[in-house]
Amino acid sequence: MADRYLSFTGTAPGRFLTRRLGLPQPAALRRWSVQAPEFEGGVLLLTAGKSELSGLEFPAPSDAPAAILLDATGVRDVEGLAEVHAALHPAVRSVAASGRIIVLGAPLDPADHHQAAVQQALEGFTRSLGKEIGRGRTVNLVRLSDASAAESTLRFLLSPKSAYVSGQVIEVGQAAGEAEVDWELPLAGRTALVTGGARGIGAAVAETLARDGARVVVLDVPGASADAERLAARLGGSALALDITAADAGVRIAQALPDGLDVLVHNAGVTRDRRLVNMPAERWSSVLEVNLASVLRTTDALLDAGALRRGGRIVATASIAGLAGNAGQTNYGASKAGVVGMVRSLAPRALAGHGVTVNAVAPGFIETKMTAAVPLFIREAGRRMNSLAQGGLPADVAETTAWLAHPASGAVNGQVVRVCGQSLLGA
Ligand code: NAD
Repeated sequence: MADRYLSFTGTAPGRFLTRRLGLPQPAALRRWSVQAPEFEGGVLLLTAGKSELSGLEFPAPSDAPAAILLDATGVRDVEGLAEVHAALHPAVRSVAASGRIIVLGAPLDPADHHQAAVQQALEGFTRSLGKEIGRGRTVNLVRLSDASAAESTLRFLLSPKSAYVSGQVIEVGQAAGEAEVDWELPLAGRTALVTGGARGIGAAVAETLARDGARVVVLDVPGASADAERLAARLGGSALALDITAADAGVRIAQALPDGLDVLVHNAGVTRDRRLVNMPAERWSSVLEVNLASVLRTTDALLDAGALRRGGRIVATASIAGLAGNAGQTNYGASKAGVVGMVRSLAPRALAGHGVTVNAVAPGFIETKMTAAVPLFIREAGRRMNSLAQGGLPADVAETTAWLAHPASGAVNGQVVRVCGQSLLGA
């Protein structure tokens, strides 16, 4: 399962050979660790157009800044767009390896097609720069209407936690009036339930939410109880042996958590790949049941029962296969696109009615048992076909989930955030 190519290109002979052959040059990504939780190098703040932001403060930049933050919120015409070029052209080379470029944009103005054109242009700009920048550096666009609501998002993107998130456009809405936030243990006193939490991405999510202070409930099928219990014990949480497709799964979760729930992570998922011509109904329905029907059912049951407390967070798991489609995965692609549809429709109503945000993570190629089972050549292609030329780790999806679950992320709602190293699939 290990990415031997990445290890090889990390050696001097490997670098030499692969460069001579014109092969991909993945950079070892800098990820979050207890020892090194933040980047050093500071943040270079640049502006294009008239800045409409205030109050953003970051560590002063060194000669090789860890990040550039370009405020393009005030860009309203093509001349303003030229300032984006003028600001970044001389500076982009200086950004450290594994560094960040974040472009801050504004919501598209339906009453001003010039503003809308150039703000949309920032999307094409960001995605193109992400594809060419290299050295493990990422480029993302944050559209914000209220800078005071963006702190959790900027902290996440400016940290090693967002190592595998690139080429994304994230909308941050109006501040939701959160109380004081503990940035060290943001989920202290909160309860998080992770479905399919016994292994893979779900186990990493459970671990990361526990790191952030949550009391974690690891839900998985009875057959995975031993792993779920071991993990829960290590994290000081509890395990819940339950097949999420059970008709009464929502009720049983609510019964197991009489004090309610703050974070619900729909992570359980399965694949049963086959081209449509060879796919029996059973393979279709088993995937749709686990990946979509049970997500809809448990979400409804928990919201209706008032089991999700105000300020709660739902994070569902989509996939780039649901955005781009994938041969052999009509069932899986349908289920994961369905998750996206649910998130977009439910998010405003869940926030208005229950004070709960609803977002999705859409992983690309993540190194887990699920992808280890993919045939070698397809696996190798999946790993390399992204701007970072490597697979992501379960921790990358987990960190993204933790940002969406953060008490200060109340203005991030209805978003589908790909954790895919800017996969070439799915735009
Ligand atoms: P995995 O197969 O390693 O783990 C999935 C977990 O879900 C397992 O512990 C399994 O027992 C559990 N599960 C399955 N059916 C269940 C059910 N009916 N009730 C309760 N638990 C159930 O998978 P993973 O790679 O960690 O993937 C996690 C999620 O991420 C899935 O939704 C998957 O579709 C999605 N995803 C993964 C990748 C990837 O590259 N690994 C890419 C895109 C999306």
